[in-house]
Amino acid sequence: MLLLKDIVKDYRVGERIFRALKGINLEFHQGEFVAILGPSGCGKTTTLNIIGGLDRYTSGDLVINGTSTKNFKEQDWDAYRNNSIGFVFQSYNLISHLSVLDNVELGMKLSGIGAAERREKAMAVLKRVGLESQVHKRPTKLSGGEKQRVAIARALLNDPDIILADEPTGALDSTTAHEILNLIQEISKEKLVIMVTHARTYAEEYASRIVELKDGEVIADSGSTVPPCPDEGYEPKKTSMSFFTALKLSFNNLRTKKFRTVVTALASSIGIIGVGLVLSISNGFSNQLSEIEQEQLVGLPILIGREQMSIGFDQAGATAYIPEDPEENEIVVWDPDSTLHTNVFTAEFLNHLESLDEEVYTNIHYEFGYIPTILTERDGTPEIMDLSQLGFSNFVVPEDDLARYYDLKAGTFPTNPTEVVLLMDEYSVLERDIIEALGYDPDETLYYEDVLGKELYVALNDDLYVEQAGGVFLPNFTDLQSVVDGGVTITIVGLVEATEDALEYGNEGIKYLYDLKTDLLAQNSGSDICVAQQNSNQSVFDLTALTDEEKEQVLSFIGCNDSNPFLIQIYTDSVEHKEAIKEHIALFNADRDIDDKIFETDLAEAIGETLGTLITSISVVLSAFASISLVVSSVMIGVIIYISVLERTKEIGIIRSLGGRKKDISRVFNAESVIIGAFAGLLGIAITFVLTFPINALAVNYDESLANVAQVNVIHLILLVIISTILTFIGGFIPSRLAARKDPVEALRVE
Ligand code: ADP
Ligand code: MG
Repeated sequence: MLLLKDIVKDYRVGERIFRALKGINLEFHQGEFVAILGPSGCGKTTTLNIIGGLDRYTSGDLVINGTSTKNFKEQDWDAYRNNSIGFVFQSYNLISHLSVLDNVELGMKLSGIGAAERREKAMAVLKRVGLESQVHKRPTKLSGGEKQRVAIARALLNDPDIILADEPTGALDSTTAHEILNLIQEISKEKLVIMVTHARTYAEEYASRIVELKDGEVIADSGSTVPPCPDEGYEPKKTSMSFFTALKLSFNNLRTKKFRTVVTALASSIGIIGVGLVLSISNGFSNQLSEIEQEQLVGLPILIGREQMSIGFDQAGATAYIPEDPEENEIVVWDPDSTLHTNVFTAEFLNHLESLDEEVYTNIHYEFGYIPTILTERDGTPEIMDLSQLGFSNFVVPEDDLARYYDLKAGTFPTNPTEVVLLMDEYSVLERDIIEALGYDPDETLYYEDVLGKELYVALNDDLYVEQAGGVFLPNFTDLQSVVDGGVTITIVGLVEATEDALEYGNEGIKYLYDLKTDLLAQNSGSDICVAQQNSNQSVFDLTALTDEEKEQVLSFIGCNDSNPFLIQIYTDSVEHKEAIKEHIALFNADRDIDDKIFETDLAEAIGETLGTLITSISVVLSAFASISLVVSSVMIGVIIYISVLERTKEIGIIRSLGGRKKDISRVFNAESVIIGAFAGLLGIAITFVLTFPINALAVNYDESLANVAQVNVIHLILLVIISTILTFIGGFIPSRLAARKDPVEALRVE
């Protein structure tokens, strides 16, 4: 069944060639127990390794069941070792991190036999060698004889035709040696056993045939004692290790090096932690940003000004200049000047705005050019206040929610248009000029109660403007008391400071409800000066000629019209409603010429977008820095895997001797790097998650609005584990390839 035809083996030693086997001719049959005897270095192991397909002959032929092996490929040899050969070595060659049972089963795992059948067969052979009670032990816990029994059980598992034993008793005491030899002799009844020994007594006592080698040549052969069976041909079953088996092998190996594995994973998780933290902080920021947009910026109204400034090309005003479907090769001309769009508030548009669904807005404010004249009393005498110092303006936040935007320091919030509040800066700071304008002496200490209840008087046109001869109107500066008496009295009912939500800075002074201005406009619209101006194309103040536009401006200035706003502010309470308002405006714009369209500005959105872009760019840059450590760790994994390859060289030899392919070896080490990578990734995201707590705690300490600044995103975490695994796989790839290329004979020789 086995024929060695003129087998020659040359070893290259440096420059010269050493001929270890000088033409071996031997024929073996089933049922033989062949002992190969000879002095050390005569070529016994080499012969055995060539017979077992672990080593290649230089010339000659090895014929298996009538099939020549001259054209065997790598995989054929792998399959041959797995199906037909069982090796038993002097040094047992068991994998120390696997149990007895797993060691025995390994060969069958390579041939892809189901778990149940594997277990059954493994238990059967272990029982046959008398070890059924020790199957879960590690080989290190066994005696030498027991280890050799495990090795024999492993050799028997796939029911090979040939058992090759290289000095199997070399490391055993004589009693144990006899036990092992008895076992091998019994096995030889069904199989071909070829055993290398240098103990002639054992050979003579147990073997059925003795072959003697010397200097690479057969010098004696006692001849075959059994009749040859006809050769049945040879067809081996291909082997393949499943990735799961590779994982288990590597996992068990790593378990024996827990400390190193944890330290390695920890080190390579640093990059993951870096990227993870950057991502979670940017995630936290983005979440907070949309929250701010939802809750705080939503208080900012949509602005529709007469002059609509454009901030960039992306503004509605600019993109609107792009034709709806430009031709494929058309170059679109864009004139930056054209983006400065003038909104024309036609009656049609104002009516369209009136038809806005009441559900979607809280208030619509129209700003007119009217600047009221306000008087106060200083030491009992009325005087006109300097409005440019006073900051006299209406609230820019929703009026039904004033308490959210302003801290009330004294008094109450206004409940009707004749009640106003004084807005101060933080720490109740007020500018000198404002105090002065209010009619107080800034050099004297002023208290809240001095200001509470203070009355101001808004002049009405008919009291303020007196018609002179020639149709010119002049302000009645001589009798201010009568202007005060006829004017609208407004009272400061409260003192407030803006909260952060109000987004209001440097806007201190008198704040009034929006309705005050509309009331005043209503009262003034029928005044003498308004009627006169409406009916004349000359200025009522100095009789200069006015264009239509200038006339509108004068009318606005003296509070005569309420149909020509220069700014419209639409307040709403949610992002969805804001969208609805924009859609309503878009509806007006549909099918209109660009010049007739109305463009709005949504500051909240613009602020949000700008901040969002900023956060994204910052996180990209930071992630890139953190990624450098990812690359470093994948190089480190490469080194670690390389060390592991060196440590597990013996295991490589064992797996190869059991029929493992080169591919299976690289699979084992790839599995190792995948395990480390996945572990590092999981460790990294766990640490990232844990770190978000102290980071958030510190951030909150620093600034309350930074609560939850670090928020992990599950998808990011999953991606990070995958990236870590892939990077370590890449890092371990080259060492795994090196492992696969190792010569199995050399690998087995390593101690
Ligand atoms: P033994 O009979 O002791 O088992 P071996 O078969 O191991 O002898 O070795 C036979 C001869 O071949 C020895 O001289 C040994 O030094 C040499 N030899 C074995 N393997 C190699 C190798 N890989 N490279 C060079 N020489 C080798
Ligand atoms: Mg030897």
